[in-house]
Amino acid sequence: MKKKIIVANWKLNGNIQTISNFLEYVKLKISLYLKCNTVVIAPSTIYLERVYRDIKDINIFLGAQNVDVNKQGAFTGETSILMLKDIGVKYVIVGHSERRYFHGENNKLITQKFGLIKELNLIPILCIGESETEKKQNKTKEILRNQLNMILEKFGEKAFENTIIAYEPIWAIGTGVSADPIYVQLIHKFIKDYINECNIKNQQNIIIQYGGSVNSKNAKSFLEQPDIDGLLVGSASLIYEEFFNILEIANNISLK
Ligand code: PEP
Repeated sequence: MKKKIIVANWKLNGNIQTISNFLEYVKLKISLYLKCNTVVIAPSTIYLERVYRDIKDINIFLGAQNVDVNKQGAFTGETSILMLKDIGVKYVIVGHSERRYFHGENNKLITQKFGLIKELNLIPILCIGESETEKKQNKTKEILRNQLNMILEKFGEKAFENTIIAYEPIWAIGTGVSADPIYVQLIHKFIKDYINECNIKNQQNIIIQYGGSVNSKNAKSFLEQPDIDGLLVGSASLIYEEFFNILEIANNISLK
């Protein structure tokens, strides 16, 4: 049985009250869903410790949504990988399209951050994906290759060991319009084959999750695909009933 990895990306949402409510529900219910799933919660930086307090003993992992490229020093307002590790973070999202678009992060910076996360033995969740225009222009594969190349060049054979790739077509993020599961399956297969072509030997260990308007209604159709190894869930992960429905679906599929 291969566990599905389900990541909740809370983005810039939540407050002490809503997070406490969510965690109360998690503590009550989670044991039912952890056998076949790996679950990660990525709150905004300021609530990382609050979330960790409640999840550290129940086998849910803490994820960060971002990290600075510097380990320490005069970088006002930033968060270091050392600090994230220090407070219990295990996974770090890197290259999310919202960071690429709103914060001007490019492949070079993302590669640097990716390296830093791996250096500290944390697990990067590397987001890649094409825009709507790029898809219309049939450039999806080219864009994905570009997003992967710098990382492959820099880290070689070990680039995707102990790493998660999140395929997130930008046009599907936060739009309510998810991608077609068959299309996503083809893209995931393409990504795995491409990495394999680049002489990466541990292809079967490459983990690729899908993200983009996932909810409890469409989760099954994604998780049933052979190369969709998990889900990165944004807005639906803020509603605990919805998030747990997704976990239940993932659990049932892993058990098959
Ligand atoms: C995301 O931000 O990674 C995401 C997939 O968001 P949503 O589920 O809201 O589309």
